[in-house]
Amino acid sequence: MIEVERAEGVYLYGPEGQHYIDLISGIGVSNVGHRHPRVVSALQAQLDRFLHVMVYGELVQSPQVQLAHKLAATLPAPLDNVYLVNSGSEAVEGAAKLAKRYTGRTELISCQNAYHGSSQGALSLSGNERFKRAYRPLLPGIRHIRHGNIEDLDLITHDTAAVFLETIQGEAGVRMASADYFQALRARCDETESLLILDEIQVGFGRTGKFWAFEWYNIVPDIVICAKGMGGGMPIGAFVASQKIMNVLKENPILGHITTFGGHPMSCVASAATIDVIQEEGLTEQVAAKEALFRQHLQHPAIQEIRGKGLLLALEFESFDVLKPTIDRALAAGILTDWFLYCDSAMRLAPPLTITPDEIAQSCQILINCMP
Ligand code: PMP
Repeated sequence: MIEVERAEGVYLYGPEGQHYIDLISGIGVSNVGHRHPRVVSALQAQLDRFLHVMVYGELVQSPQVQLAHKLAATLPAPLDNVYLVNSGSEAVEGAAKLAKRYTGRTELISCQNAYHGSSQGALSLSGNERFKRAYRPLLPGIRHIRHGNIEDLDLITHDTAAVFLETIQGEAGVRMASADYFQALRARCDETESLLILDEIQVGFGRTGKFWAFEWYNIVPDIVICAKGMGGGMPIGAFVASQKIMNVLKENPILGHITTFGGHPMSCVASAATIDVIQEEGLTEQVAAKEALFRQHLQHPAIQEIRGKGLLLALEFESFDVLKPTIDRALAAGILTDWFLYCDSAMRLAPPLTITPDEIAQSCQILINCMP
């Protein structure tokens, strides 16, 4: 275990001056690096304005308005109505409630091995029994299909309010589905008038080399969910839908999704600055070349497979017993990595998108030296 006293860019610093290259970004959060100067100065400026003013129809907070416009501008039409919350799990809850209310249906579908969060609704949608067992009974009316399996799409019917899917499964160990699958999924949701909800919490905000991972598959979801990297290090989440869908929450807002701190102004200004940084520094455009560098430098017989897209990679080892000592040696040598919640035989690599080619070469060299 390391104690972190300070962080900057891709580096974490301990109390005795030790430093580590952070290859996991606080689990996919620090896409623009730790304490990006533009995020820090946006936060400092907001500190001098206000921290919290309660709003239910009477007031609107400028940082929320500005962020909603900026976020909507990253998304294709008709995704332009933004609902701000505090976290990924809360965004999943809000989206599920919106889908039930909009469709008037009760059944939800999600995927085996999905991770959607740890509140009870999000946990119910998640697809790993080991994580759910102790908390049953969970939400009824949820069916789990196989991620990426076209045959299972028949289970989506006119009773289905929504299908929840991670565009790329993260905690399952970075599992991708084909473009054909996404086309078929979109078509089946259209046919049954079920909403397609993509969880981009771990893969959005530039991580895969497009601002949104679903852009790789030429489809547009009905609701998109984001959090993590969205806040540039501050806690925030959102679900975004069309005006038509979101309108059902406006009919009677207090019966919608109530959240005291959702879209906190400090988090909103940090998030708006994060979007500016990603766009103005061209971070997404650099991701493919950085991925290629990792793949090129990380060649070692102990690595059985490298899965993933952009700067979300899983390095598959023979077992946890091989991986764990490698992670420990890497940490002792100044490189922070991790495994995945549902996949403890794969090393998680998800560095800040700002990592430089030299930092990639240096960290890969150390990682290779730590392999068995
Ligand atoms: N969905 C996905 C795909 C995630 O990776 C996570 C967090 N690991 C969540 C939802 C839950 O987000 P949070 O921890 O912010 O509630």
